[in-house]
Amino acid sequence: MSGLDFGIAGRKAVVCASSKGLGFGCANALAAVGVNLVMCARGAERLHEAANQLRKKHGVEVTEIVCDVTTEEGRAAILEAAGKVDILVNNAGGPPPGDFRDWTRDTWIAALDANMLSAFALIQAVIDPMIDQKFGRIVNITSGSVKTPIPALGLSNGARAALTGFCGGLARQVAQHNVTVNGLLPGQYNTDRIETIIANTAKNENMSLAAARDMLEKRNPTRRLGEVHEFGFACAWMCSAHSGYLTGQNILIDGGSFNSTL
Ligand code: NAP
Repeated sequence: MSGLDFGIAGRKAVVCASSKGLGFGCANALAAVGVNLVMCARGAERLHEAANQLRKKHGVEVTEIVCDVTTEEGRAAILEAAGKVDILVNNAGGPPPGDFRDWTRDTWIAALDANMLSAFALIQAVIDPMIDQKFGRIVNITSGSVKTPIPALGLSNGARAALTGFCGGLARQVAQHNVTVNGLLPGQYNTDRIETIIANTAKNENMSLAAARDMLEKRNPTRRLGEVHEFGFACAWMCSAHSGYLTGQNILIDGGSFNSTL
């Protein structure tokens, strides 16, 4: 990346749910362009390893917050440690699959809490200071399911689409202040979470884990799963100083799996 200045070195990013997977990919790419980080996850050990890796590799400051970002206490701890936030990357684990006939109001509230309202609460807390300083980048890690609903993941489809809808309006309200709000929609990535999908596919299709993985890979136009550094690079680009005209967008990064011209 030498020669390409993202213009955000020394800024501070809160990257939620980032001890591994897509959140870690975003944290890594932001650190690579000089951004100091506040990282969080529920598991302390893995978070510490991830934070140390980024400190050593990129020489940035990294604050570790062991917390559940879907709780009010967790978000308060993140915000207190962070102070002024320039970049917010919202992320959390996805809701479980299931049959909509089994879902109650409480099931929905839990999904909305995790995948819509916790992102909303963090946005609400950081956005006015971003407006005042005339710089802010908000990125929500959602899912390709916002564009292509996955029937068994109805809770994810619904909660993430709700966040996306809200942010579409918000983006237009704050764009004049150089505060952008965008979504990154992952297709299928080589993270721990994909192992669950591979296991489910193997079970449903009565095939081995290796055959299920092979099938998922071959289905994609790239003939492979995505890698987290590829996802992270897109996040850093969205957060760069030069991306002020990119707002209210939802970028699908799925290896061309969603087949459409636009
Ligand atoms: P992953 O590899 O399992 O990593 C999840 C990360 O989030 C871990 O660091 C985990 O650490 C942390 N985390 C989870 N729940 C948390 C919580 N409540 N509070 C704080 N940290 C939390 O998952 P991923 O594949 O990166 O997926 C990230 C998000 O993208 C999920 O919502 C997933 O549904 C969505 N997504 C992923 C894909 C894909 O192909 N990977 C596709 C579409 C959508 P702890 O467990 O220690 O908290």
